[in-house]
This record gives sequence, structure tokens and C-alpha cells, in this order.
Amino acid sequence: MIILMSSVLVDVDHYLYYFFKSKSFNLKKSFNYFYKGEFGEKKLLFVFHTVEFWVILLIAGLYLHVLFYFLIGVMFHMFLDLFNIKPKKLSLVHHLIKKHKNPEEDEQ
Ligand SMILES: [Zn+2]
Repeated sequence: MIILMSSVLVDVDHYLYYFFKSKSFNLKKSFNYFYKGEFGEKKLLFVFHTVEFWVILLIAGLYLHVLFYFLIGVMFHMFLDLFNIKPKKLSLVHHLIKKHKNPEEDEQ
């Protein structure tokens, strides 16, 4: 059950991304933005879809086992995301370093 829930909940980061970008809570607009590809060809960063988040879950899972099951759900989700055409950024650290080197470059 936890595995199933986490494999769905991990996409909450899409909604958070949309909220920070548009300052809108509109779930339907957020859905359209991502699933109808309104953001174009940009590679976007979703915090829960990054290697760093998985490592944190793995380490935390050693102490709180429920998080380990959460990680399995996230991995299942990532496997399904492989079949999604839109590529995503997979590392937060890589994104921040790139952004630091070239602040003008917007989300590439
Ligand atoms: Zn996803």
C-alpha cells in the first residue's frame, strides 16, 4: 500500500513546481501545463525525481523502514517515467552547479 501510494505521491513535485512558477493553486492548469507539454522542450527539475532525494530516502530508510518502502514506490514510478517522452533533470546538485555557472540560462 505504501509502495503504491508513494509511486503516485512522488508527482506532487510537479504541482509544487507549477505553484512556484505561476503562483497558482489551480490543479487543472497544472495538469495541462505538464501533460499537454505546455512547457515546450525544456528539461525541468522535479525535486522528488532527483538522485539526491532517493539517496536521502535510502539513508533515512535505514532508520525508519517505512521510508524504504516509500523508496521502492519512487523507484517503480521512475521506471514508469522512463516511458514518458519528456526528459527530466535527474540531479539537483548538477542543476545548481550549472545554474551557478550560468545564471542567465533558464532551466536548460
Ligand atoms: Zn514522475
